[in-house]
Amino acid sequence: MSFANCRICGKLFYRTTRDICLDCRTDEEGKFLRVKKYLHAYPSATIDDVTLGTEVELRLIILWIEQRKLTLEQNPNIVLECERCGADTRTGRLCPECRSELRQQLVHQDERTMMGEQPSLASAKSELSAKYHLSRRRDRR
Ligand SMILES: [Zn+2]
Ligand SMILES: [Zn+2]
Repeated sequence: MSFANCRICGKLFYRTTRDICLDCRTDEEGKFLRVKKYLHAYPSATIDDVTLGTEVELRLIILWIEQRKLTLEQNPNIVLECERCGADTRTGRLCPECRSELRQQLVHQDERTMMGEQPSLASAKSELSAKYHLSRRRDRR
């Protein structure tokens, strides 16, 4: 059993699998249906049309696109701008190229931390235990 503050409204609620309360979840679900219906009703709508027509935050719409909750097959005019290079993208905040580039950078970062961090962590630990033994020795005196 655990309680948490809702990520959206800040209210204390009984935490289930998500970090938002039931009210906000219902609210979000309603917004999602609004967007879905709008996309269905206006196949040629642009992303601006959708945000204006449904009054749903762009941030949420992009999130649903990234989660593949929203499919854009019937809506060829929904085009987003890549946050990194400005290219057109229909898959989320980043275009496919930037996405794979960033993923590769992350992999390299992981390799670096694995090689770089481990020895320093080990030496920090041995330093600590050395200090510990030293103070123990001092205590005994
Ligand atoms: Zn809430
Ligand atoms: Zn890009």
